[in-house]
Amino acid sequence: MKKVEHIGIVVKDLTNANALFEKLFNQSHYKLEEVESEGVSTSFFKVGDTKIELLQALQADSPIAKFIEKRGEGIHHIAFEVDDIQSEMERLQAEGFELIHTEAKDGADNKKICFLHPKSTNGVLIELCQEKRP
Ligand code: ZN
Repeated sequence: MKKVEHIGIVVKDLTNANALFEKLFNQSHYKLEEVESEGVSTSFFKVGDTKIELLQALQADSPIAKFIEKRGEGIHHIAFEVDDIQSEMERLQAEGFELIHTEAKDGADNKKICFLHPKSTNGVLIELCQEKRP
């Protein structure tokens, strides 16, 4: 793993949250993106080398909506950048970590992504992400 690529924060209302985080960081988000497959609308801010991803559920049955229902708004996941997501997934699986999906999926911000189940990582949802190469 190379670095913390971004931190994901779930919010109920992306428009309100964008306005708030713009004030907090004193800059606007650089990207808005819907990820249909995950049922989320996202925005991204860049603070130094680390990005902050805000996520709002698109549908009531999306995983983010369920997360908010159970735990409320707040930090949702920490994403680490990797060079080769497939080999990193195999390495972690061999180490006994539980992957939420067996194949890397398309995520926001031009990434291939995979999540580790929080029950195998002390309650922290961890995302692996690899920049998609053209
Ligand atoms: Zn993420």
